[in-house]
Amino acid sequence: AADRHWLLSIQPLGQGAKLVRLSDRTATRASERIRVDFVANASHELRTPLASLIGFIETLEDANGPDEAPVRERFLKIMAGEARRMQRLVDDLISLSRIEADKHRTPADPIALGALARETADTLRGERWRTRIELAVEDGLPPVTGDRAQLSQLLHNLVGNALKYGDPEKPVRVKVMRSGTTMIKLAVADEGEGIAAQHLPRLTERFYRVDAGRSRQAGGTGLGLAIVKHIVERHRGRLDITSTQGVGTTVTVLLPIAAETGHSVAAE
Ligand code: ADP
Repeated sequence: AADRHWLLSIQPLGQGAKLVRLSDRTATRASERIRVDFVANASHELRTPLASLIGFIETLEDANGPDEAPVRERFLKIMAGEARRMQRLVDDLISLSRIEADKHRTPADPIALGALARETADTLRGERWRTRIELAVEDGLPPVTGDRAQLSQLLHNLVGNALKYGDPEKPVRVKVMRSGTTMIKLAVADEGEGIAAQHLPRLTERFYRVDAGRSRQAGGTGLGLAIVKHIVERHRGRLDITSTQGVGTTVTVLLPIAAETGHSVAAE
Protein backbone atom coordinates (compact mmCIF):
# COMPACT_ATOMS: atom_id res chain seq x y z
CA ALA A 1 0.00 0.00 0.00
CA ALA A 2 1.12 3.58 -0.63
CA ASP A 3 1.21 4.47 3.07
CA ARG A 4 3.72 1.80 4.06
CA HIS A 5 7.31 2.82 4.84
CA TRP A 6 10.13 0.69 3.49
CA LEU A 7 13.78 0.86 4.37
CA LEU A 8 16.23 -0.25 1.69
CA SER A 9 19.73 -1.08 2.99
CA ILE A 10 22.69 -2.18 0.92
CA GLN A 11 25.66 -3.83 2.60
CA PRO A 12 28.84 -4.45 0.57
CA LEU A 13 30.15 -7.97 1.06
CA GLY A 14 33.44 -7.49 -0.86
CA GLN A 15 34.42 -8.69 -4.35
CA GLY A 16 31.56 -6.70 -5.80
CA ALA A 17 28.92 -8.69 -3.93
CA LYS A 18 26.22 -6.80 -2.08
CA LEU A 19 23.52 -7.74 0.39
CA VAL A 20 20.35 -5.85 -0.35
CA ARG A 21 17.72 -5.77 2.35
CA LEU A 22 14.26 -4.33 2.24
CA SER A 23 12.50 -4.01 5.57
CA ASP A 24 9.02 -2.85 6.41
CA ARG A 25 9.33 0.04 8.87
CA THR A 26 5.64 0.95 8.94
CA ALA A 27 5.11 -0.14 12.57
CA THR A 28 8.24 1.67 13.82
CA ARG A 29 7.19 4.81 11.96
CA ALA A 30 3.70 4.64 13.46
CA SER A 31 4.97 4.28 17.03
CA GLU A 32 7.44 7.15 16.50
CA ARG A 33 4.58 9.26 15.19
CA ILE A 34 2.44 8.45 18.23
CA ARG A 35 5.28 9.35 20.61
CA VAL A 36 6.03 12.64 18.85
CA ASP A 37 2.33 13.56 18.80
CA PHE A 38 2.02 12.68 22.49
CA VAL A 39 4.90 14.94 23.54
CA ALA A 40 3.54 17.74 21.35
CA ASN A 41 0.03 17.36 22.81
CA ALA A 42 1.23 17.17 26.41
CA SER A 43 3.41 20.27 25.95
CA HIS A 44 0.55 22.16 24.40
CA GLU A 45 -1.83 21.16 27.21
CA LEU A 46 0.66 22.44 29.81
CA ARG A 47 1.58 25.57 27.92
CA THR A 48 -1.92 27.02 27.82
CA PRO A 49 -2.54 27.18 31.60
CA LEU A 50 1.09 28.19 32.13
CA ALA A 51 0.76 31.16 29.75
CA SER A 52 -2.39 32.21 31.54
CA LEU A 53 -0.67 31.95 34.95
CA ILE A 54 2.27 34.05 33.79
CA GLY A 55 -0.10 36.63 32.34
CA PHE A 56 -1.91 37.03 35.66
CA ILE A 57 1.33 37.11 37.67
CA GLU A 58 2.69 39.89 35.45
CA THR A 59 -0.53 41.86 35.80
CA LEU A 60 -0.43 41.56 39.59
CA GLU A 61 3.27 42.51 39.67
CA ASP A 62 2.70 45.57 37.52
CA ALA A 63 2.86 48.75 39.58
CA ASN A 64 0.00 50.15 37.47
CA GLY A 65 -1.97 46.94 37.73
CA PRO A 66 -5.18 46.49 39.74
CA ASP A 67 -4.84 47.13 43.47
CA GLU A 68 -8.47 46.61 44.50
CA ALA A 69 -8.69 43.56 46.75
CA PRO A 70 -11.72 42.00 45.00
CA VAL A 71 -9.99 42.15 41.60
CA ARG A 72 -6.78 40.67 42.99
CA GLU A 73 -8.79 37.94 44.69
CA ARG A 74 -10.59 37.09 41.47
CA PHE A 75 -7.24 36.86 39.66
CA LEU A 76 -5.87 34.58 42.38
CA LYS A 77 -8.89 32.30 42.01
CA ILE A 78 -8.31 31.97 38.28
CA MET A 79 -4.60 31.35 38.89
CA ALA A 80 -5.37 28.62 41.42
CA GLY A 81 -7.68 26.98 38.85
CA GLU A 82 -4.99 27.02 36.18
CA ALA A 83 -2.37 25.64 38.58
CA ARG A 84 -4.74 22.80 39.55
CA ARG A 85 -5.35 22.02 35.92
CA MET A 86 -1.61 21.68 35.40
CA GLN A 87 -1.37 19.52 38.49
CA ARG A 88 -4.11 17.14 37.27
CA LEU A 89 -2.37 16.83 33.94
CA VAL A 90 1.05 16.15 35.47
CA ASP A 91 -0.51 13.60 37.87
CA ASP A 92 -2.17 11.79 34.94
CA LEU A 93 1.05 11.85 32.90
CA ILE A 94 2.93 10.29 35.82
CA SER A 95 0.22 7.63 36.28
CA LEU A 96 0.29 6.76 32.62
CA SER A 97 4.06 6.39 32.48
CA ARG A 98 4.15 4.31 35.70
CA ILE A 99 1.49 1.93 34.42
CA GLU A 100 3.26 1.62 31.09
CA ALA A 101 6.64 1.00 32.71
CA ASP A 102 5.06 -1.82 34.70
CA LYS A 103 3.01 -3.35 31.93
CA HIS A 104 4.85 -6.67 31.83
CA ARG A 105 4.22 -7.43 35.49
CA THR A 106 0.68 -8.65 36.10
CA PRO A 107 -0.57 -7.38 39.46
CA ALA A 108 -1.66 -10.24 41.70
CA ASP A 109 -3.24 -8.99 44.93
CA PRO A 110 -6.76 -10.20 45.75
CA ILE A 111 -9.00 -7.13 45.59
CA ALA A 112 -12.66 -6.88 46.62
CA LEU A 113 -13.94 -4.86 43.67
CA GLY A 114 -17.38 -4.30 45.22
CA ALA A 115 -15.92 -2.68 48.34
CA LEU A 116 -13.57 -0.59 46.20
CA ALA A 117 -16.50 0.57 44.07
CA ARG A 118 -18.34 1.56 47.25
CA GLU A 119 -15.32 3.57 48.45
CA THR A 120 -15.08 5.34 45.11
CA ALA A 121 -18.78 6.19 45.13
CA ASP A 122 -18.48 7.58 48.69
CA THR A 123 -15.44 9.69 47.80
CA LEU A 124 -17.07 11.13 44.68
CA ARG A 125 -20.37 11.79 46.50
CA GLY A 126 -18.37 13.86 48.98
CA GLU A 127 -17.02 16.04 46.17
CA ARG A 128 -18.86 18.63 44.12
CA TRP A 129 -21.31 16.18 42.53
CA ARG A 130 -25.00 16.25 43.19
CA THR A 131 -25.77 13.38 40.80
CA ARG A 132 -27.06 10.22 42.52
CA ILE A 133 -24.70 7.25 42.34
CA GLU A 134 -26.51 3.90 42.58
CA LEU A 135 -24.34 0.95 43.45
CA ALA A 136 -25.35 -2.71 43.00
CA VAL A 137 -22.86 -5.34 44.12
CA GLU A 138 -23.71 -9.03 43.72
CA ASP A 139 -23.51 -11.05 46.95
CA GLY A 140 -20.61 -13.36 47.68
CA LEU A 141 -18.30 -12.21 44.90
CA PRO A 142 -14.77 -13.59 44.88
CA PRO A 143 -11.93 -11.05 44.68
CA VAL A 144 -10.31 -10.06 41.41
CA THR A 145 -6.53 -10.17 41.01
CA GLY A 146 -5.07 -6.77 40.74
CA ASP A 147 -3.41 -3.66 42.00
CA ARG A 148 -5.59 -1.81 44.49
CA ALA A 149 -4.36 1.70 43.66
CA GLN A 150 -4.78 1.14 39.94
CA LEU A 151 -8.25 -0.37 40.23
CA SER A 152 -9.25 2.53 42.45
CA GLN A 153 -7.99 4.92 39.78
CA LEU A 154 -9.91 3.00 37.09
CA LEU A 155 -13.12 3.31 39.13
CA HIS A 156 -12.53 7.03 39.78
CA ASN A 157 -11.94 7.72 36.10
CA LEU A 158 -15.01 5.81 34.91
CA VAL A 159 -17.45 7.01 37.58
CA GLY A 160 -15.91 10.49 37.24
CA ASN A 161 -16.63 10.50 33.49
CA ALA A 162 -20.21 9.33 34.06
CA LEU A 163 -20.63 12.27 36.47
CA LYS A 164 -18.90 14.76 34.16
CA TYR A 165 -20.73 13.80 30.98
CA GLY A 166 -23.93 12.37 32.43
CA ASP A 167 -27.21 14.10 33.15
CA PRO A 168 -27.11 15.47 36.74
CA GLU A 169 -30.83 14.72 37.07
CA LYS A 170 -30.34 11.03 36.25
CA PRO A 171 -28.46 8.54 38.41
CA VAL A 172 -25.12 7.01 37.54
CA ARG A 173 -25.36 3.23 37.93
CA VAL A 174 -22.39 1.17 39.05
CA LYS A 175 -22.75 -2.61 38.99
CA VAL A 176 -20.31 -5.30 40.06
CA MET A 177 -21.27 -8.88 39.22
CA ARG A 178 -19.96 -12.24 38.12
CA SER A 179 -19.39 -12.89 34.44
CA GLY A 180 -19.00 -16.59 33.77
CA THR A 181 -16.76 -18.58 36.07
CA THR A 182 -13.51 -16.69 35.61
CA MET A 183 -14.36 -13.01 35.43
CA ILE A 184 -15.97 -10.20 37.41
CA LYS A 185 -17.84 -7.55 35.47
CA LEU A 186 -17.89 -3.87 36.39
CA ALA A 187 -20.40 -1.70 34.54
CA VAL A 188 -20.64 2.08 34.87
CA ALA A 189 -23.67 3.57 33.13
CA ASP A 190 -24.89 7.12 32.73
CA GLU A 191 -27.89 8.64 31.02
CA GLY A 192 -26.04 11.55 29.51
CA GLU A 193 -25.84 12.79 25.95
CA GLY A 194 -23.92 9.75 24.76
CA ILE A 195 -21.13 9.55 22.21
CA ALA A 196 -21.48 9.35 18.41
CA ALA A 197 -20.36 5.99 17.00
CA GLN A 198 -17.45 7.38 14.99
CA HIS A 199 -15.70 8.55 18.19
CA LEU A 200 -15.96 5.26 20.09
CA PRO A 201 -12.85 3.54 18.67
CA ARG A 202 -10.68 6.57 19.47
CA LEU A 203 -11.80 7.40 23.03
CA THR A 204 -8.89 5.57 24.69
CA GLU A 205 -6.28 7.50 22.67
CA ARG A 206 -4.31 9.99 24.73
CA PHE A 207 -5.84 13.47 24.57
CA TYR A 208 -8.70 12.37 22.33
CA ARG A 209 -11.82 14.29 23.30
CA VAL A 210 -15.21 14.51 21.65
CA ASP A 211 -15.69 18.08 22.87
CA ALA A 212 -12.44 19.64 24.10
CA GLY A 213 -14.12 22.72 25.61
CA ARG A 214 -16.56 20.62 27.59
CA SER A 215 -13.82 18.28 28.82
CA ARG A 216 -11.59 21.13 30.01
CA GLN A 217 -14.48 22.91 31.67
CA ALA A 218 -15.31 19.71 33.54
CA GLY A 219 -11.68 19.44 34.67
CA GLY A 220 -10.77 16.64 32.23
CA THR A 221 -7.21 16.03 31.08
CA GLY A 222 -8.05 13.88 28.05
CA LEU A 223 -6.03 11.04 29.58
CA GLY A 224 -8.65 9.32 31.77
CA LEU A 225 -9.68 6.58 29.35
CA ALA A 226 -6.11 6.05 28.10
CA ILE A 227 -5.18 5.33 31.72
CA VAL A 228 -8.19 3.01 32.09
CA LYS A 229 -7.21 1.11 28.95
CA HIS A 230 -3.65 0.59 30.20
CA ILE A 231 -4.84 -0.56 33.62
CA VAL A 232 -7.25 -3.05 32.04
CA GLU A 233 -4.52 -4.41 29.74
CA ARG A 234 -2.13 -4.78 32.65
CA HIS A 235 -4.81 -6.74 34.52
CA ARG A 236 -5.44 -9.02 31.54
CA GLY A 237 -8.98 -7.73 31.46
CA ARG A 238 -11.31 -6.40 28.78
CA LEU A 239 -12.72 -2.93 28.20
CA ASP A 240 -15.87 -2.18 26.25
CA ILE A 241 -17.58 1.17 25.68
CA THR A 242 -21.09 1.28 24.28
CA SER A 243 -23.06 4.45 23.79
CA THR A 244 -26.21 5.71 22.15
CA GLN A 245 -26.56 9.40 21.45
CA GLY A 246 -29.33 10.94 23.47
CA VAL A 247 -29.60 7.82 25.66
CA GLY A 248 -26.33 7.39 27.50
CA THR A 249 -23.06 5.55 27.83
CA THR A 250 -22.07 2.28 29.49
CA VAL A 251 -18.46 1.32 30.11
CA THR A 252 -17.87 -2.34 30.95
CA VAL A 253 -14.70 -3.81 32.37
CA LEU A 254 -14.06 -7.54 32.80
CA LEU A 255 -11.38 -8.52 35.31
CA PRO A 256 -10.09 -12.01 36.12
CA ILE A 257 -11.14 -13.59 39.41
CA ALA A 258 -8.23 -14.25 41.76
CA ALA A 259 -7.07 -17.85 41.45
CA GLU A 260 -6.41 -20.13 44.44
CA THR A 261 -8.81 -18.29 46.69
CA GLY A 262 -11.56 -20.55 47.87
CA HIS A 263 -13.04 -17.85 50.04
CA SER A 264 -15.40 -15.13 48.88
CA VAL A 265 -15.23 -11.52 49.92
CA ALA A 266 -18.32 -10.12 51.59
CA ALA A 267 -20.13 -7.69 49.31
CA GLU A 268 -20.80 -5.45 52.37
P1 ADP B 1 -11.43 13.61 29.72
O1 ADP B 1 -10.41 13.97 30.74
O2 ADP B 1 -11.53 14.57 28.61
O3 ADP B 1 -12.74 13.25 30.32
P2 ADP B 1 -11.18 10.79 28.96
O4 ADP B 1 -10.01 10.09 28.37
O5 ADP B 1 -11.65 10.31 30.30
O6 ADP B 1 -10.77 12.31 29.01
O7 ADP B 1 -12.38 10.72 27.94
C1 ADP B 1 -12.15 11.10 26.59
C2 ADP B 1 -13.40 11.73 26.01
O8 ADP B 1 -14.42 10.74 25.90
C3 ADP B 1 -14.00 12.85 26.84
O9 ADP B 1 -13.39 14.09 26.57
C4 ADP B 1 -15.45 12.81 26.40
O10 ADP B 1 -15.59 13.52 25.19
C5 ADP B 1 -15.69 11.33 26.09
N1 ADP B 1 -16.37 10.61 27.20
C6 ADP B 1 -15.79 9.84 28.15
N2 ADP B 1 -16.69 9.31 28.97
C7 ADP B 1 -17.90 9.75 28.54
C8 ADP B 1 -19.27 9.54 28.98
N3 ADP B 1 -19.55 8.78 30.05
N4 ADP B 1 -20.25 10.15 28.27
C9 ADP B 1 -19.96 10.93 27.19
N5 ADP B 1 -18.71 11.16 26.74
C10 ADP B 1 -17.70 10.58 27.40
